[in-house]
Amino acid sequence: MTDRRIAGALPAISEVAADSLAAWFVARGEPAFRAAQLLSGAHRPSTTAFSDLTDLPLALRAEVGESFRFSSIVASHVLVADGGLTAKAVHQLADGQRIESVLMRYPGRGGSAGRTTVCISSQAGCAVGCPFCATGQAGFGRQLTAAEIVDQVLHWHRAPWLALGEGWRPGEGVGHYNIVFMGMGEPLNNADRVFAAIELLNDPARLGIGARHITVSTSGVVPGIERMIDELPQVNLAISLHAPDDALRDELVPINRRWPIERVMQAGRRFASRTRRRVSLEYVLIDGVNDDTERAERLARLAAGWLSHVNLIPLNPTPGSRWSGTSAAGVARFVAVLRAAGVAATVRDTRGREIEAACGQLHAQLAGRELPRVMAAAGSAGASGT
Ligand code: SAH
Ligand code: SF4
Repeated sequence: MTDRRIAGALPAISEVAADSLAAWFVARGEPAFRAAQLLSGAHRPSTTAFSDLTDLPLALRAEVGESFRFSSIVASHVLVADGGLTAKAVHQLADGQRIESVLMRYPGRGGSAGRTTVCISSQAGCAVGCPFCATGQAGFGRQLTAAEIVDQVLHWHRAPWLALGEGWRPGEGVGHYNIVFMGMGEPLNNADRVFAAIELLNDPARLGIGARHITVSTSGVVPGIERMIDELPQVNLAISLHAPDDALRDELVPINRRWPIERVMQAGRRFASRTRRRVSLEYVLIDGVNDDTERAERLARLAAGWLSHVNLIPLNPTPGSRWSGTSAAGVARFVAVLRAAGVAATVRDTRGREIEAACGQLHAQLAGRELPRVMAAAGSAGASGT
């Protein structure tokens, strides 16, 4: 169970511990195994309500609905792009806060299995305040509960035709999700609930998503990285670096004033050596701001000689932004400097740009408006909201 719940709201099924659920059934004269039955049914793809759980007697289903919520997400507005391969949802929570999640499908090729990545939010808003990020510009709303974090994944899991494609059949492909904490919020500023959510996601009686398929992206909250080393050594770590020098990083990622580059890199190197897991250094390329050759060389020096990998992301400008993304030629030059220094570097694909725009942007566009239930981006397949 999580420590914070929206006032007056019933606990969401995704956060109820199996033993409390068993006790709930036993108190009603029902066998304890009903708890496992309910959990497995509620986490089964295409279950859309407690009323779908026909292996529970009808009266019991009604009682379950009076004690628990099927989801902590009240409504979702879904946009689809890339011919159905990318979908983004704005979710409304019980107290009216809104958050975002994105699903990206990578179909298998030549016999290799496809994969599905779900990008989720850890907070409503964010207090870090990075000036290029729509979430940062909108400010901090509140912490998400573990249920609100898990329910974003469940939203897509419960609509597997959206998550896994129209060709999806029951029993196929489910469970092969990659989860990235790259939606709204700084996950390590909400570490207790994020860690609790990861445990729930891992639970074989629920979604059973392995820790190695989960990535936490942080702007550089050093104590949170230290906790990951001790508590979640199998979860992947991404550090949003964005500048190789403190003067610029103080501006682009203001939390740098608290934990400057040297401290963050020390924590990253410790993570890599203790867990033997490759740390991803995220670097948003902003035209004329952080994309010069000297910075590429400094970044190469920070990344060389340990188990790291640089992931370059051309800026996706927020509305009214004074900045734009580095050109393709500029990106190629930057990558070449890194590779010449022996640093592993990739450029992130710009999936779903027309709907994703940038982290937090769709939310900003829809602020103050009632959520329409379905909207498809131009030239794409439609999708349904919850
Ligand atoms: N707060 C965490 C995780 C959420 S942001 C973090 O900052 O790491 C996830 C990633 O999206 C971060 O690397 C962030 O810098 C990047 N991002 C935010 N706004 C962006 C934009 N406008 N264009 C491209 N990437 C952006
Ligand atoms: Fe927060 Fe990450 Fe956006 Fe910075 S980039 S404001 S840390 S969500």
